[in-house]
Amino acid sequence: MKIMIDAGHGPNTPGKRSPDGMKEFDFNSRVADVMKAELEKYEGAEIYFAHAKNDDVSLNERTEKANKLKVDVYVSLHANAFRGVMGDHTGIETYVYSTNPKEARKLADKIQAALVKATGLANRGVKLANFHVLRETAMSAILIEHGYMDSKIDLPKLKSDAFRKLCGETNAKALAEFYGLKRKPEPKPKPVASKSNVLYKVQVGAFASKDNAEKLAAKLNKDGYNTYIVEEAKK
Ligand SMILES: [Zn+2]
Repeated sequence: MKIMIDAGHGPNTPGKRSPDGMKEFDFNSRVADVMKAELEKYEGAEIYFAHAKNDDVSLNERTEKANKLKVDVYVSLHANAFRGVMGDHTGIETYVYSTNPKEARKLADKIQAALVKATGLANRGVKLANFHVLRETAMSAILIEHGYMDSKIDLPKLKSDAFRKLCGETNAKALAEFYGLKRKPEPKPKPVASKSNVLYKVQVGAFASKDNAEKLAAKLNKDGYNTYIVEEAKK
């Protein structure tokens, strides 16, 4: 199936920063990268980005790309903001389009629940909204707000790579489960040694008397074998 991930905004989109200057895009795009890498571990998952690393892509371009590629699902990743003034508001919420979201609503419920469980942040629920990326996409589309950039509680998490990874992994796992994707087999571990650097040694005999050992060694030498005698303590 074709999955489009949208790291909301772009690297230079005005605003979209925490009060102390963290770019929302830095959070969103890291979560997108993790999510892509995780989803690629499943059979038949084709992952596309709606955003670009170094350019601001307009909302129109994003949804046109999704519609043209006929992706099956569109997931837009964001960090929230309330008034741009640090406060105690906190939590995760997920949005679906206001009219007839059907499958998207169920997917949103699943990802919202998984994120709340994984992160321990407050559950602000699944909500309806008339956002461009939800309205103009022809397929199931959801928009996730992974906590507030102007929250004393959420911002330290949004800045942490461990939290970003957790969000990406959780989103991917919940989405894969929702669509019943099958994990690709794990790559086989490499053999410890290849045949070209292994020697197979043959032991011929063990003797209590050194004389007898030397006699056999001499016989083998005569027959063209390389021999050596090893002294070992008896057990
Ligand atoms: Zn945003």
